[in-house]
Amino acid sequence: MAKVDVKIEGMYQEVLKRNPGETEFHQAVLEVLECLGPVVVKHPEYLERKIIERICEPERQIIFRVPWQDDKGIVQINRGFRVEFNSSLGPYKGGLRFHPSVYLGIVKFLGFEQIFKNSLTGLPIGGGKGGSDFDPKGKTDDEVMRFCQSFMTELYRHLGEHTDVPAGDIGVGGREIGYMFGQYKRITNRYEPGVLTGKGLTWGGSLVRTEATGYGATYFVNEMLKARKDSFEDKTCLVSGSGNVAIYTIEKIHQLGGKCVACSDSNGVIYHEKGLDLDLIKQLKEVERRRISDYAAVHKDAKYIANGNIWDIPCQVAMPSATQNEINGKDAATLVKNGCIAVGEGANMPTTPEGIKVFLEAKICYGPGKAANAGGVATSALEMQQNAGRDSWSFEYTEKKLEDIMVNIHRNCFETAEEYGAPGNYVLGANICGFIKVANAMVAHGLI
Ligand code: GLU
Repeated sequence: MAKVDVKIEGMYQEVLKRNPGETEFHQAVLEVLECLGPVVVKHPEYLERKIIERICEPERQIIFRVPWQDDKGIVQINRGFRVEFNSSLGPYKGGLRFHPSVYLGIVKFLGFEQIFKNSLTGLPIGGGKGGSDFDPKGKTDDEVMRFCQSFMTELYRHLGEHTDVPAGDIGVGGREIGYMFGQYKRITNRYEPGVLTGKGLTWGGSLVRTEATGYGATYFVNEMLKARKDSFEDKTCLVSGSGNVAIYTIEKIHQLGGKCVACSDSNGVIYHEKGLDLDLIKQLKEVERRRISDYAAVHKDAKYIANGNIWDIPCQVAMPSATQNEINGKDAATLVKNGCIAVGEGANMPTTPEGIKVFLEAKICYGPGKAANAGGVATSALEMQQNAGRDSWSFEYTEKKLEDIMVNIHRNCFETAEEYGAPGNYVLGANICGFIKVANAMVAHGLI
């Protein structure tokens, strides 16, 4: 056992050496590798075939120039990425992130996580991720369109319904997917809905895709609570962020009887003790693309805390839905001290390793992103199914499928954790369960 751990430690050191400076990628790899010691004891063939070393090396990485002109006619240059990480279970699948912080290390951490997340959905999708350091904030519609067209002018040659199917992530929503789909169609002269997901409802999109990540994460937390004979009823909840994931997390929490009292953006926090007014948040964020501070101008009894830390507010359920590493060790300790009993990650890797340690040691319900937020990509796979069948399903039918998928993911993570002697540890359960399916497919496909 100790010998095996030493081997895995060596593999991790090799990842550090081969990928210098990519700290988020290192963090994502370490979280998975730390769980695999007992797995390779049961499956020595994974060591023999170097499955772990191979899984840490993307199958293909594409980096490209994205030139475009702003409204003043000035030439701008951004960098585009697509990391096609693993296609053992299906075509590469994963979102595109447009944010100034994007560099190869961020895209690789997201792509790596996506392999195991997509495996957990039980649907036939491999893992990939992409994006750009383009900042959509403050850009006009025309500028966003010109950027998206230039981005797709390179990316289109790498995509395909059976090859690689991007979707949205931070900074990429229905508007951006629309512009990219239009450009793909124009360049290829093919109407191929299967090359992108998150499309508009009249041109190949799926009902529930918009709501899916937030709804799915809330279903996952609901399952964790149920496993402890508890529920959302009358729970005070915090949801960080105020984008697509946050909005539909708040909506589902309210539907399940919880009360969400705070959300945030990168400038500050809104605290509304009697419960957030979701219609107003949707109007501000989805329709008018404004900042969350404007909420307090409408609701005088709500408090706007500029540069505030949402995790200082007492709650029973916390659902980080903004971005990576938004909960550190100190925040996690504050949450636990204030009586938080469940954390469900709508964002990707929102908790630092120190924070995760605090949650696991406190033995509260902690649902890591790759399990809890898999509802988004799962519903993308349902969109692909509808596209392939030239079909479109009702909201109720699709939502029921999403709920069943989340219940299944929870059960698989829960049972895997028990099987490996760590009951209640969803980090271990998710990483092992997600890994084994990919590893077995890789063994079956031979050395490729
Ligand atoms: N970006 C989302 C995620 O992190 C969704 C990806 C997709 O729908 O392909 O899983």
